[in-house]
Amino acid sequence: MPDFGIVIHGGAGAILRQKMTSELEAAFRQALTDSLTAGYEILKSTGTSVDAVQKAVNIMEDCPLFNAGKGAVFTNAGRNEMDAAIMDGLTLKAGAVAGVHHIKNPVSLARLVMEKTAHVLLAGDGAEEFARTQGLEMAPKEYFFTERRWQQLQEAMAKEKELKGDELSQGNPGKEGKFGTVGAVALDRSGNLAAATSTGGMSNSRYGRIGDSPIIGAGTYADNDACAVSTTGHGEFFMRAVTAYDVSVLMKYRGLDLAQAAETAIHGRLTELGGDGGLIAIDRKGNIALPFNTPGMYRGHYLSGGQPRTAIYREKMI
Ligand code: ASP
Repeated sequence: MPDFGIVIHGGAGAILRQKMTSELEAAFRQALTDSLTAGYEILKSTGTSVDAVQKAVNIMEDCPLFNAGKGAVFTNAGRNEMDAAIMDGLTLKAGAVAGVHHIKNPVSLARLVMEKTAHVLLAGDGAEEFARTQGLEMAPKEYFFTERRWQQLQEAMAKEKELKGDELSQGNPGKEGKFGTVGAVALDRSGNLAAATSTGGMSNSRYGRIGDSPIIGAGTYADNDACAVSTTGHGEFFMRAVTAYDVSVLMKYRGLDLAQAAETAIHGRLTELGGDGGLIAIDRKGNIALPFNTPGMYRGHYLSGGQPRTAIYREKMI
């Protein structure tokens, strides 16, 4: 059994091999490996699981390929609105931010909320003002502009117009949805678990919409008595199914092992509700689970004594 390890995701969705170029695929695998390696190095040198998940997520936030930080998608108002959360499985302390526009690394702000305030979740202007008082790195809105995400918004808006959908179908990614949220879960040498998630939300959603990522128990959860979990997918369903907590309590109160609990949460409850997506999870023994019900999920793990491994489609880790 591994003494320590880290598992990450870079979003789930309709990620199809035939739509991917070999250059893009290589870039994704490299970015996942960089994130895994940074988290692993912290764990190896006796850093905490909280430090490791934050660092791994920071690296993906700085990479334009993922829908978090730099590569965040746009809402229907043409703005980037980011959400993030972090949770410490030892203390059950958690911090989260929602609807921030100028924070280079939203998960770092979530950590400051966890450690420097009496609160769990700060949103919008209040969260940004808190970031400034903490001296956290801010970024102008131009920093978050990427042509790829802008075009994604234009396409989604054009499609919506064509369909002349009602309010309920607006900002709804449907089955072709791509979810690029990033997340990490880790076990450190002291046996402590942590989880972190960071996202730009869903392309073309109503502005002001908040997804599952910053909601403790929905998109992010860690409890040393069970496991650490980070999710990705159509957030509204993960909120209704309280998916991250679902995995944890299936272990804690029903005695399921990690693989059974994670499988039940995704292929049972979430799928029955009609939600698309997946999750990553790790327990105190170093067992890991990465279930998803979409065609693909950017994912990887790096466990002590092993190598960094990544996968994108329905395939074995390489
Ligand atoms: N779960 C995220 C949200 O709904 C989206 C994603 O995973 O990409 O905000």
